[in-house]
Amino acid sequence: MKIAWWKWLPFQRWRIVGEAESADEVPDRLPRNGVALVRDTNRVKWIVFNCPCRTGHRIMLNTDAARKPNWSLNEVKPLTISPSIDFQGANRRCHYFIRNGRIVWAKDTYR
Ligand SMILES: [Zn+2]
Repeated sequence: MKIAWWKWLPFQRWRIVGEAESADEVPDRLPRNGVALVRDTNRVKWIVFNCPCRTGHRIMLNTDAARKPNWSLNEVKPLTISPSIDFQGANRRCHYFIRNGRIVWAKDTYR
């Protein structure tokens, strides 16, 4: 997966920075606020990014409506995804919305 140099520029909202054919092709390091799409020719399969809590864990959202849970890419520019993303780890819960290219943290997030 190739990421254009200008996608690494700072102070950008959440946005798509590249596409890959499989999740393995998405590099560990992504531009800040950058999202990769894993897709085949007709459709997006996964939305992949590093969690905005910045602890370095990766989020993979299934977009296949036949499987649950699934998410929708409502808008690409500015990026809007629904429903909310709710990651629950051992000591943390990262719960937020991505709306209009920004993160809106839910109140039940804790770290
Ligand atoms: Zn997180």
